[in-house]
Amino acid sequence: MSFDTLGLSPKVLAAVETAGFETPTPIQEQSIPIVLAGRDLLGLAQTGTGKTASFTLPILTRLEKGRARARMPRILILEPTRELAVQVHESFEAFGSEHRLTIALLIGGVSFGDQDRKLDKGADVLIATPGRLLDHFGRGKLMMNGVEVFVVDEADRMLDMGFIPDIERICKLLPPTRQTLFFSATMPPEIQRITSTFLKNPERVEVSARSSVVSTITQKWVSVPKVAKDKRAALRNLIETENIKNAIVFCNRKRDVATLETSFERRKLSGRALHGDMDQHARLETLRMFKAGEITYLIASDVAARGLDIPDVSHVLNYDIPDSPEDYVHRIGRTGRAGKEGTALGLVTKEDSKRVAAIEKLIGEKLEWLGNEQTATEEEPKDNKRGRSRRAPRRASSDDNAANDNATATRSRSRKPAEPEALETSEAPEASETSEAKAKPAPKQKAAPKREKSAEPAQPATEGKGSWKDSPVPAFLQRSVRP
Ligand code: AMP
Repeated sequence: MSFDTLGLSPKVLAAVETAGFETPTPIQEQSIPIVLAGRDLLGLAQTGTGKTASFTLPILTRLEKGRARARMPRILILEPTRELAVQVHESFEAFGSEHRLTIALLIGGVSFGDQDRKLDKGADVLIATPGRLLDHFGRGKLMMNGVEVFVVDEADRMLDMGFIPDIERICKLLPPTRQTLFFSATMPPEIQRITSTFLKNPERVEVSARSSVVSTITQKWVSVPKVAKDKRAALRNLIETENIKNAIVFCNRKRDVATLETSFERRKLSGRALHGDMDQHARLETLRMFKAGEITYLIASDVAARGLDIPDVSHVLNYDIPDSPEDYVHRIGRTGRAGKEGTALGLVTKEDSKRVAAIEKLIGEKLEWLGNEQTATEEEPKDNKRGRSRRAPRRASSDDNAANDNATATRSRSRKPAEPEALETSEAPEASETSEAKAKPAPKQKAAPKREKSAEPAQPATEGKGSWKDSPVPAFLQRSVRP
């Protein structure tokens, strides 16, 4: 199968060739003809499958007919995070370089000025996070009744982030004649409800299982103490003993991302934090530095790392075991890519036994322990116990804190859907664990849903070159498509 047979315009085919794509991925092969035929599409696929081009290429072909009118875009694409929106924007710019389109990227964390100017000029394509799009709409800056194609990407993450009410609101502002393309990695009942309300007789395309783990990843558990200071020491010990070229260190909470960054700085380890409280420019700069090898460690929360294209990561270190086993699969999918060997180490405390069991159930494999299973967690060093007893009794443990965050999440979700920006400041502040944390306290944050769903396994930008089959995309993502 080649791209020529899918019905794409000559201009788009030329751009595909320039990008070095030779063979369509399964999702592209299935979806492109459906999108070109004007049908609604329900795509069950995750990042890394070539999903972006599966809608970008046919949409560009469609856009060759007709023109935009001021403030009336023809294409609307919703993404759950700013980083994903930026990636889709890059894809449109790359494949649409000959199309003379105006593409507006409407994301939070940056000023309205440039976005307003683009909208005033008449944008053909809007790529937006839901909160910022509704802000623009509320300010009378755009009309959505000219939208011909509406794309909802990563719908299950939108659900996790509390955006479904926003999506429903946006759907109602669009003309009923529009075409809707809906992508989600999973189909929880709420997403099913939305699709049956807003999609018209959709074609369904499905690629890959979400629980798959690439076979090039060596995974192990490492037993660590629960006390934060000792857990950090265990992490540093791992860093010294493992042969790490570069690593993403995942934390469940932004507070811990900040603490670890300070700890790394003190030990002269080359690491930088990436989390949702950072402004967009700082996030992109940190990512650039990591990709360029200017820093060795990226200390990240799930939301900031979601869906990112980070090439060639030798290790994923799960400083915290994620609450959701799917998040574990996505986190470790950042290493062992492109046929390279990768290592994923999970730091396990006594409190993590249920999480570990859930992960092993999902991946269908019992993982080995590096060193002894759980022994380090059996007893905490006396010093730490003393230290803990001195602390104020009301200080919550991290698990208590998680429970509080969850309660906050439920309350906040039931009141009002959160904006992406608000969500990315989701973790509640807590008393500093150590002097390190005091030296660099986590910023004040708004209360909002606690859980940050993880990013999908990302593909390096360079992976775009060459044939899909030869491309270093993990085998599990290349499985054939079930229509
Ligand atoms: P996506 O799932 O859209 O994030 O794409 C994942 C990666 O695969 C990106 O780096 C794309 O550039 C690359 N890619 C997408 N389609 C193809 C293709 N047909 N051939 C080679 N690489 C591709």
